[in-house]
Amino acid sequence: MHKLILETELVPETCWYTNLRSILTPKNWKMLSQAVRERSGGICPICGMEAPMEELDAHETWGYNDITHEQYLEKIVGICDNCHMVKHIGKANVDGLYDVAREWHAAVNDISVEESEEIITNDFQVWKERSQHNWRLLIDPNVLLEYMPREWVVSQIERLEEKGVLLK
Ligand SMILES: [Zn+2]
Repeated sequence: MHKLILETELVPETCWYTNLRSILTPKNWKMLSQAVRERSGGICPICGMEAPMEELDAHETWGYNDITHEQYLEKIVGICDNCHMVKHIGKANVDGLYDVAREWHAAVNDISVEESEEIITNDFQVWKERSQHNWRLLIDPNVLLEYMPREWVVSQIERLEEKGVLLK
């Protein structure tokens, strides 16, 4: 099986409500997500579809350490609505859009719907297992430096520290 271009990113149920967006002030999240979207140049970096910058979603990508149960911010990407729907296919399922999302998953990855179904079923199993644990969220300020000027990042450190998510 070749590497997938578009993978689901099911966030464990136990950390649905903690993310960078919820930690920053609305104003600061707006500044950051704007910078992320501008980075895309109006093209979804996953499927390559043209999309006006204001229509792209700033998506937080997380890495999971299944031994320590720590969740790390890896990057933030400006992606199109369809790809974002696949990332959060659990939500798409609740919204009655599972088939639409699975078809996009199959099309972008250039695999059959059956292969896609198998991969997504496995992703849900991993999600189920991860949802049984509490996760510690960790944010490395260096990730934010990819998108924002140093002084902005420095001004966020105290808040990250207060919220207990600063990776030292
Ligand atoms: Zn896309």
